[in-house]
Amino acid sequence: MELARDAGWSLIGDGALAAVAAAVKQMEDEPLLNAGIGACLNLDGVVELDAGVMQGGELQAGGVAGLKDLRHPIDLAIAVMLDGRHVLLAGEGASRFAREHGIEMCDPAIFITDRKRQELLLGADTVGAVARDADGRMAVAVSTGGISGKLPGRIGDSPIPGSGFYADDRFGAVCGTGQGEAFLRLALARLMVVELEHGMDAPAVATGAVALLGTRLNALGGVIVIAREGAPASSFNTPSMPVAVAT
Ligand code: ASP
Repeated sequence: MELARDAGWSLIGDGALAAVAAAVKQMEDEPLLNAGIGACLNLDGVVELDAGVMQGGELQAGGVAGLKDLRHPIDLAIAVMLDGRHVLLAGEGASRFAREHGIEMCDPAIFITDRKRQELLLGADTVGAVARDADGRMAVAVSTGGISGKLPGRIGDSPIPGSGFYADDRFGAVCGTGQGEAFLRLALARLMVVELEHGMDAPAVATGAVALLGTRLNALGGVIVIAREGAPASSFNTPSMPVAVAT
């Protein structure tokens, strides 16, 4: 987390998007985390990766899902967002878009470093970052292998704006990890930003979101939140959720 935080913070002068992208790329390369290298395996023993990104100024968003051969899924999510025609791309079409845009591809084998450990990952090691820069711009980036033993083709909350992540410069940026189906059913990320809009502070929004996950759907997860002002906040009901902060 500290390496990722430092990678992001070193680029905060280039803006919130550059910072969250650098932090998430660092974590995609960390084999212990459920994103990029070391991500969990689906029922067929294959890594299928999802990622999402959003900039809060113009509500630009990009999501990519079911990727097997993208070296850094977050790079492709950013390319989809900046291209602007679509918000979500999945599977083979997403890989084709990546090749056409010169985004780094890779051999799917590199994602599997320790098959036994990756088979047992429960999820909730999705990686994400939120940032607010000196101009008040906010961004969020998230990347995941989803959940272990998922059906091939399953898409979680992480590439879906409003569920796994959301950013609006007027209110804040949020990112989630945990049981993606619960985040999808609650549209939790959007709900959290609406709560910021209605005047709740970041710690209250984070705590409330995790409480809702638990009470309404008996689900496990965690969130990170940054509002227009003040320090970032986080909350989780999983056994652990390491975070690192720079201000
Ligand atoms: N939220 C992710 C998903 O359901 C899993 C995780 O956070 O580890 O795809």
